[in-house]
Amino acid sequence: MFTLLFIAFLLSDILLRLWLAARQVRHVKQHRDQVPPEFSARIGLYSHQRAADYTHAKVQLAIVEWITEAATLVALTLLGGLQFLDVRLGQLIDNEMMRQLALIGSVLIIVSVVGLPFAIWRKFKLEAKFAFNRVTPKLFVVDALKAALLLLILGVPLAASVLWVMGNAGPHWGWWAWLVWVIFNFLILWLFPTVIAPLFNKFTPLDNPEIAQRIHALAQRCGFSINGLFVMDGSKRSAHGNAYFTGFGKARRIVFFDTLLSRLNVDEIEAVLAHELAHFKYKHIIKRMLISFALSAVFFQILSWLSQQVWFYTGLGVLPQLGRSNDALALILFFLVMPVFTFWTAPLASWFSRRDEFQADQYAATQCSAEHLVSALIKLYDDNAATLTPDPLHSAFYDSHPPAVLRIQNLKHD
Ligand SMILES: [Zn+2]
Repeated sequence: MFTLLFIAFLLSDILLRLWLAARQVRHVKQHRDQVPPEFSARIGLYSHQRAADYTHAKVQLAIVEWITEAATLVALTLLGGLQFLDVRLGQLIDNEMMRQLALIGSVLIIVSVVGLPFAIWRKFKLEAKFAFNRVTPKLFVVDALKAALLLLILGVPLAASVLWVMGNAGPHWGWWAWLVWVIFNFLILWLFPTVIAPLFNKFTPLDNPEIAQRIHALAQRCGFSINGLFVMDGSKRSAHGNAYFTGFGKARRIVFFDTLLSRLNVDEIEAVLAHELAHFKYKHIIKRMLISFALSAVFFQILSWLSQQVWFYTGLGVLPQLGRSNDALALILFFLVMPVFTFWTAPLASWFSRRDEFQADQYAATQCSAEHLVSALIKLYDDNAATLTPDPLHSAFYDSHPPAVLRIQNLKHD
């Protein structure tokens, strides 16, 4: 019964994805030969067509990736892959904790190996074709090794703590596991700006006094304290530009991608930052964090109930063992399968995110000028080859940011 439900959800997810992808490609193609009038003064037909082709190429790659991921999921669950690993590792490793960590590790390795060709293709074929990629094969390997090492250093203690709690904290372990998860998240937030991000990029203090002065004045106007303006060498990996806030409390800093600074003028940079500041001002980031913690509390409760149900294992192609712990199995099954059942909630998260983006745009328009934000947005859409004509349904389902036309209309109406 549960198996049928799982298959039904998996198939409907894929069909929904394919249908949305087809809509997106059709819509972008239909509008390929004409720049929308709102942009025709600023974006040429060549750029517009390049964005259409880039969107099309991304969708094509994503389709192959979804199908491969779904096949891997079925191979691991219903076709017995996980069962095989569990039995083999049970024969090889005596230590309970080591055995369970090895099981989680091997599933992670399988999932990474399946994803690797796609990551390579995306960088060296797709992004390279549209002149976005700056990663050399050597840097790609170094990045992958660093990421794997980081996962090992941070992931093993996390997995071990959760497994320990599952085995030793009694019937209410779901709450303890949740607490471990929350603490882990704060640890990452704290380590990210000063330890993790510098492993991959170089951060130098912003040495442009004109921009610095404008940003400090803006922050003061908005009642926001900053402890540093940094430039990140984003151009090392990609031509895409961005700016973000990171850290909390005293470690609060603003990070500009060098690619952003090189493309926007001072007015536009100020407007983009005012938008980012608004996310702080309206507590969007904290709200998102609280919602994610609340959801993870619910998920841990569901997991703690599911881990007691034999059908949860057998329905997904695994036989729980009587003589030893099945906690790692429950964890793996849950995290592999949960996205299949929650996929249809994506539009809800996208809707909330887009509402926040509109609010941030409004704030930027009052603190700086709508006109400068509009011109920054147009440059960024153009540089990133982001399509100006997405399919409305595709956009409503997935997009965390409103389509360009709506954002600009919203800004111009004030
Ligand atoms: Zn935003």
